[in-house]
Amino acid sequence: MWTRSVRMASQVQVPRPRSQPLRQPGTPRGKGASPGLLPTSFASDRGIYIAIYPVWLRAEDRFREEFTVALDASLSLVDVSELSPVQRQYVERLTRTRLHQRVFHARVLRAYADRCAMCRLHHPELLDAAHIIPDTEPDGLPVVPNGWSLCKIHHAAYDANLIGVRPNLVIDVKRRLLDEIDGPMLRHGLQEMDRVKLLIPTQRLCQPDPKRLEVRYERFLAAS
Ligand SMILES: [Zn+2]
Repeated sequence: MWTRSVRMASQVQVPRPRSQPLRQPGTPRGKGASPGLLPTSFASDRGIYIAIYPVWLRAEDRFREEFTVALDASLSLVDVSELSPVQRQYVERLTRTRLHQRVFHARVLRAYADRCAMCRLHHPELLDAAHIIPDTEPDGLPVVPNGWSLCKIHHAAYDANLIGVRPNLVIDVKRRLLDEIDGPMLRHGLQEMDRVKLLIPTQRLCQPDPKRLEVRYERFLAAS
C-alpha cells in the first residue's frame, strides 16, 4: 500500500489518496505542522498493516503524489530543511526506532495471540511488547524472539526484576515479594505467578531466544 522510505528526519512518505485533498476548504496553508487526518499504515507482515495515528502533515509532493508526515507531535516541530547532517541522522534514527517499536509491538502481540504470556489476560489494550534484553543494548533487537507479550503489571514487574523467567520458562517471583502481605493484586496478580509456566507461541521462530533468556535470568538473580 505504501511506504517507500523513511529517508529524512521526521519524515515518512505516504501516497496521497486521490479522493482526499491535502487541505479542506478554509484550512490555512501554513508551513507548520497540522494534525494529520489521513489513515496511515505500515506493513508489519505480509498482508498485515499497522495503523499509525494521529500523524502531522508536513508537506505535499504533488508530482510524486506523496505526503510527508511526522509520526508524533515532537517530530512535527522539526523542519528537516534546517537541520545539520548530524541532527538529521539523529532524528532519522529516532523515527526508525519509533516505527520499529510499533512493528515490534504488533508482531509480538500477534505471536502471543493477544494474551499475556504470564497471566493469559486477553485484552490487547492492556498488553505491552516487553523486551527480554532491553532495546538500549546492542542485543536488544526489536524481534519476536527477544520479546514477550505481557500485561502492564507483569511488564513492570519483569522490568523491575520482581519477576524473573527461568530458561525453562517457569516464573520466579522474588522472595521478598512472596513474603509480603497485601491485597488481591499482590496475592493473585504476583505471588500466584510463582512457578507458573509461561505461555509461548507454538511457532518455533517466534519462541523466546534461550540465550537471551539465560542472560536476563542471571540479571534477575543478581538484582537485590
Ligand atoms: Zn499478565
